[in-house]
Amino acid sequence: MQKIVPAFLILFEFFFCFCRCSAGELNWPIKEHFSIAAHFSDYQNYADIPYWHGGIDLVAPSGTEVFSPVSGEVKIYSYKIDASRNPRKFGYLRTDYGSLSYNEFYKNLDSTEERYIEVSIIDKWKNNWMFRHIAHKTIPAALISLPQSVRRVSSGDLIGKITRWNDTVYPSLQTYHHIHLEIVDKNGVYLNPAKLMKPFLDSEPPLIKKIWITENESENAILSHHAPIPSVKGKIDILAQIEDTNDTGCYITGPYMIKMALSKFQNEKWEYIEQFRDIVKFDVLPVTGDRTKMVEALYKDRVIEKGKTFRSEGNSKLRTAIYNLTNGTPDKGYYPDNSLDTSSLAPGHYCAVIEAYDIGGNISTGTILFKKE
Ligand SMILES: [Zn+2]
Repeated sequence: MQKIVPAFLILFEFFFCFCRCSAGELNWPIKEHFSIAAHFSDYQNYADIPYWHGGIDLVAPSGTEVFSPVSGEVKIYSYKIDASRNPRKFGYLRTDYGSLSYNEFYKNLDSTEERYIEVSIIDKWKNNWMFRHIAHKTIPAALISLPQSVRRVSSGDLIGKITRWNDTVYPSLQTYHHIHLEIVDKNGVYLNPAKLMKPFLDSEPPLIKKIWITENESENAILSHHAPIPSVKGKIDILAQIEDTNDTGCYITGPYMIKMALSKFQNEKWEYIEQFRDIVKFDVLPVTGDRTKMVEALYKDRVIEKGKTFRSEGNSKLRTAIYNLTNGTPDKGYYPDNSLDTSSLAPGHYCAVIEAYDIGGNISTGTILFKKE
């Protein structure tokens, strides 16, 4: 039987635009070509511990020189990752090598896991710039030979070279030699490094791969069995799988910003009943301290649609993330119980309109329709 598709079911067109928004002014710490392989807001999950990545990963050949974008006091640490599922935590146990003499410094670091060295620079605003995965023998000897109290760099000074990394990260087949740069302000707020540095080339908008509606906190997508659009009632979540890439490399990251609006088909046309508002805007992370906090509220572990499971993946084999768009906003924070309560909506047809932005200002739009009886 042929069905007639009413005008209100014609989806909003997916569209995108190209523009170059001004980012920061600072020089990137690598002068040669590098790939931005992960942003600080990215969902990561190794060993079933979801957390905010917290830093930006810049991939370049091992041995590539790293320069400080800022002037400031220098401290050097070794560190270990301190993560567990129960209690839920992801952090670093740092050992300060500041008080060690030149010879002791090298003796101690020789016995340390080469990859886990951090050069920390505290700038004049007390932001802590933590450069991880610097090969310790490449930290300039002139810097180490100074007492801790006078160890300083000026912007543009060499701080060391990228160490070797043994693994690859999806989808690249090349070894993931990189620095992880994490910037935390004096209040413990994680800052977006890419917003402080000069613009980088990003010509493609984020990709909105899938959009689903579930009952609040459910994993099962509400499907339309007999009608062209799903019928909802009560509290629902709207979920979207969104990925971004940029022109510096082939790596998959999260988007910079997501907005959402709600429209209703009334008076023979679609009218916005809720204007676009920020769902996430990653100038900063929405947490301080432990990076496992609130990450499960903004991201959805998995969604099941017609027996097929879609997952957020944040390890080196696969990176993709499903965002829960009804669990919060930057102002109010993110809480699993939050939802879109459709019991307050009048009967009719609705359309959630989602915009995903990258730092370059490119935008993608996606929509999902639902019906309230
Ligand atoms: Zn990293």
